[in-house]
Amino acid sequence: IVRMQALNKHFGNLHVLKDIDLEIVPGEVVVVIGASGSGKSTLIRCINGLEEYQLGKLEVDGSQLLPFGKSNRALQRIRTEVGMVFQQFNLFPHLSVVDNITLAPMKVRGWSRADALETANRLLERVGITDQAHKYPAQLSGGQQQRVALARALAMEPRLMLFDEPTSALDPEMIGEVLDAMRELAKEGMTMVIVTHEMGFAREVADRVIFIHQGEITEQGEPESLFDNPQHERTQSFLSRVL
Ligand code: ATP
Ligand code: MG
Repeated sequence: IVRMQALNKHFGNLHVLKDIDLEIVPGEVVVVIGASGSGKSTLIRCINGLEEYQLGKLEVDGSQLLPFGKSNRALQRIRTEVGMVFQQFNLFPHLSVVDNITLAPMKVRGWSRADALETANRLLERVGITDQAHKYPAQLSGGQQQRVALARALAMEPRLMLFDEPTSALDPEMIGEVLDAMRELAKEGMTMVIVTHEMGFAREVADRVIFIHQGEITEQGEPESLFDNPQHERTQSFLSRVL
């Protein structure tokens, strides 16, 4: 569902992604790890066109996402099919929980309010916050807000979900409820790319773990082999610091 070939991304003089090759198949759960500034966020933001790249090839869900300077007709389509959850929730503060969830399906997918509401209620139940439906984001805990953000993304029936450190802004006691919801989603077969520092969770849900160092994929593999038997010295030193 994602095919990235020799992708290169610069921020001015800074070469942030270097010849990244990455293929993700439907149903796969890929966890991206690496030090701060290594390019993890930039990598996943390229997948839904939130960042433009300069060189290489990128195909997402059958559409070509062209490099910087070319018109990207596929962008709208890709953004519709790819959901994203951010560290900072990014809910619309002036909309209630249900309105946050029903907005895009109605506007972008053209669903009726009744259909969108039905989906919203089902998703709220699934992430365990039916009782909060008519509150505003500021009235919710961080863990609840992040579960709303997840429900909002899922309401679009995405083919691929991207997560950028979804639990990093949460108090420790709320991390579990968000990871549980993500674990459920993985079990149901959603294709997921997850940037996280939760190594226990990564080991449990990932089909593949990718270690990025200074904009390059240094090493990747199944979680057992990457965590227990890292081959590259850089992976070893990173893991020795975080595990
Ligand atoms: P973290 O773990 O801290 O979130 P990361 O691995 O997600 O780090 P990125 O956010 O992808 O790292 O950043 C990669 C590099 O690109 C960093 O050196 C960062 O300073 C730089 N960078 C990121 N966004 C921009 C931007 N909009 N303009 C200029 N430089 C940027
Ligand atoms: Mg980041």
